[in-house]
Amino acid sequence: MVHKKLTLPEKICAACGRPFAWRKKWARDWPQVRYCSDRCRGSNSTSGPGPANGAGSGGKAGRGK
Ligand SMILES: [Zn+2]
Repeated sequence: MVHKKLTLPEKICAACGRPFAWRKKWARDWPQVRYCSDRCRGSNSTSGPGPANGAGSGGKAGRGK
């Protein structure tokens, strides 16, 4: 008998540096997912060596909701 191994893809959270596994809610955005949770995604805006985008800070960008 061959056991089918369920191996979910993993990534390293860009905020906390911990590995996290694929989740169903990320099925569509997995290639873009960088953080293990919304909390990490939000807490990265203050201090972080990430991309200096400054998304949603000034309001210069007119797109989005
Ligand atoms: Zn994290």
